[in-house]
Amino acid sequence: MSMCKVCHRDSAKHSEKTWLLHQQKQRCNFCGDYRGKHSEKLWNIHQEAVPNNTKLATILLGQGPKVLAKIVKWNTVKVNGRDSSHHIEYVPIYMKCSECGATLGNAEEKLADVFDKTCLECFCNMTEQEVKWYERPRV
Ligand SMILES: [Zn+2]
Ligand SMILES: [Zn+2]
Ligand SMILES: [Zn+2]
Repeated sequence: MSMCKVCHRDSAKHSEKTWLLHQQKQRCNFCGDYRGKHSEKLWNIHQEAVPNNTKLATILLGQGPKVLAKIVKWNTVKVNGRDSSHHIEYVPIYMKCSECGATLGNAEEKLADVFDKTCLECFCNMTEQEVKWYERPRV
């Protein structure tokens, strides 16, 4: 039993069909897209990429797309009873390539189920070396 994040009612209060429908309408914390646009594997990858128990915000990096960031507060002063904004830091959350550790781009994040969380470069390297690719244990 679990709580539906779409209508905030218990799963028992849904017919099977409505439940599925509502689950598909869940928004991904990581990329902001509907669950229905993810494969099951991609959904899990994205949920894992988002840290738990962390305050999140979306920030705009320059002209670029909005990125998910965690809000990090330094334990410091309060100015006039409020947290000083100088002591709040937005740390962007990126996925890292599981092979080389490079930060994944937007497209690579959306294809993480296909690329197995690697960057395009590593993916190409791996697919060229077919033997290695297939020897890797799949998780
Ligand atoms: Zn619902
Ligand atoms: Zn997502
Ligand atoms: Zn890589």
